Formats: sequence, C-alpha cells, structure tokens
Amino acid sequence: NPLARAQYMLAAHNTGQLPPDGGFEVAFAGRSNAGKSSALNAICQQNALARVSKTPGRTQQLVFFDIPPTTDRFLVDLPGYGYAKVPKDLQAHWQAFIDKYFRTREALKGLVVVMDIRHPLKDYDKQMLGYAVSRGLPAHAILTKADKLGRGAQGNALLAVRKEMQAEYRDAVSVQLFSGESKQGVDEARAVIGGWLEL
Ligand code: GDP
Repeated sequence: NPLARAQYMLAAHNTGQLPPDGGFEVAFAGRSNAGKSSALNAICQQNALARVSKTPGRTQQLVFFDIPPTTDRFLVDLPGYGYAKVPKDLQAHWQAFIDKYFRTREALKGLVVVMDIRHPLKDYDKQMLGYAVSRGLPAHAILTKADKLGRGAQGNALLAVRKEMQAEYRDAVSVQLFSGESKQGVDEARAVIGGWLEL
C-alpha cells in the first residue's frame, strides 16, 4: 500500500501557498464528524495522519500529504464542513479559494466525499460532488461507519445512494461501503485513489 507512506507536507490557506500544480492529487471532503479523518487514517494505515487537519486555526486550510518517494503525488484534506447551514455560511474567502482550486487545479485527478452512511448526500456533499462533476473529474463517495448498520441496512443504503447519484451525476460518481473502525472497504478505497494517483 503506497499510501501508507503518506506524510504531512503543508497546509495552504490561499492559492499562493499551494504546491506547484504539476502532479497528481486526490481531495477528501466531508462534513465535520462524518468520519473523514478516520477514513484517511485507515486508508493510509496510520493512527494520526489526519489529526493535523483538525488543529485549531487549520480549519480553513487545504492540508497536503505527500507520498514518498514521489514528490508530486498528494492527498489533500479539505476542511470538514461545519455544523451551520450550507452553503450560505461558507466564508467568502474560503468559498473563493476552494472555488478557484476546484475550477483551475490541473493536478486534481479525483474527489473523495466521505459521508456517514446514516446521513448521506447532504447539501454540502452534493455541492462538492457538483464541483467535481461539472469539471469532468471523477468522484468517489465513501459511506463510512458502515459498522453501525447491519448487512441488510448497509446494502439498502448503498443502493439508495447509488441510485440518487446515478440520477444526478450519471457514471461520474462511484460509491462504496466503508468503516474506519472495522476497516471494511479500505482495499476498495485504496484501489480507487491509487488509480487516480497512478501509484
Ligand atoms: P471527521 O470530523 O469527519 O474527520 O470525523 P472523525 O474521523 O474524527 O470521526 C468522528 C467520530 O466518528 C469519532 O468519534 C470517530 O471515532 C467516529 N468514527 C469515525 N469513523 C467511524 C467508523 O467507521 N465507525 C464508527 N463506529 N465510528 C467512526
């Protein structure tokens, strides 16, 4: 698993702080508490990789993890989206930054949206998926905390999300079951991300 080598590189809070736009990167989005940090940690086989993203003051930054020995492959942790109503409460600066990042970043090869399997496809999730799809980028939805549901309910949730996404985004978006707790689905997620990063 090459992603196990992922390490914190930098946090960018404006366009000028981004690494050169010449490589391959995959961005992770999700509402606060959805389980994004746990998913990143499980995918990268690390206990505290994504902890840095939660440091107070880093809440409006893009956190970059590089993957040695490469110097141009990155995982990008987007700030967990908050408790307030979306998208009206996005700060203007953040909105402009993320907007520009999604519109213009050549290195961005795909978007992972982490959603709590019990609360999928909220407004913010759809906004992020829309950003990606409108640019022609592939997106992959991770339905995490699957361990909270029984097998039958997991399957139902997967089918319901797949159906709604199919209607809205056609084949631009894929979806899977996941659990940071039981590690269900980590191989599937690594395969998608590794493919986008050409690792
Ligand atoms: P983030 O805010 O999206 O980064 O969410 P965290 O990864 O910090 O997780 C939020 C809470 O959900 C924490 O209490 C985690 O322990 C819990 N959690 C995260 N992933 C899972 C999971 O797959 N299963 C269960 N049961 N709990 C999880």
